Amino acid sequence: MEHLNPAIGRRRLIRILREKGITDEQVLDAFDKVDRHLFVDGAMYAQAYDDNALPIGSGQTISQPYVVALMTELLQIKKDEKILEIGTGSGFQTAILGRFTRRVYTIERHRELSDTARKRLREMGYANIVFKVGDGSIGWPQHGPFDKIIVTAGAPVLPLTLTDQLADGGRMVIPMGDKDRQDLVVYEKDARGVLTQFTAAQVVFVPLIGNQGWQD
Ligand code: SAM
Repeated sequence: MEHLNPAIGRRRLIRILREKGITDEQVLDAFDKVDRHLFVDGAMYAQAYDDNALPIGSGQTISQPYVVALMTELLQIKKDEKILEIGTGSGFQTAILGRFTRRVYTIERHRELSDTARKRLREMGYANIVFKVGDGSIGWPQHGPFDKIIVTAGAPVLPLTLTDQLADGGRMVIPMGDKDRQDLVVYEKDARGVLTQFTAAQVVFVPLIGNQGWQD
């Protein structure tokens, strides 16, 4: 079966991402380097290179590859930047980010997901990722400001704690809206600290649970 061959699966997935409008070659190259089947349970290997979200335990999901690619493209990451990711999940998006920047700080509220992702990424040789278990909706002020912030769970309103931790000239990508459907919003902070925003797509994410998110 075609899907059980990771190399064929990756090529097919990259073709789908191009067809859906992803053009950043660095992002597409990262999808060619990260084996998505290693981030899901063995029973789901055959579906790992389909363009779908899949369950990863604790009631959470590994995001749809197109959405991971789109959010990464929207971040416009440069080589030496420092990134904050809220919602480690399986660690797949983390690995993609880790391939082309200096350091990724990633926060996950479920300890078992964070521990699994940490072990997985260490075994894969990623040495530039710092993990934390906790409420990412309040960010990680000790390590800020961040050049880029990516939130991989849906927020009801803009968490101002996160925009406070965004560097001047930085970008944040965050799904915002109700629990069933969100706008994927890009915030840009200019050199004077002024925020502007635009909506890039409609998405469906699990809720951001926490102080600056939804109640548990
Ligand atoms: N990007 C991940 C991947 O590729 O596997 C998928 C992330 S999943 C859609 C969203 C994650 O955000 C879940 O693992 C969830 O537990 C986590 N989450 C929700 N609220 C959070 C919070 N306040 N702080 C940290 N993580 C949170």
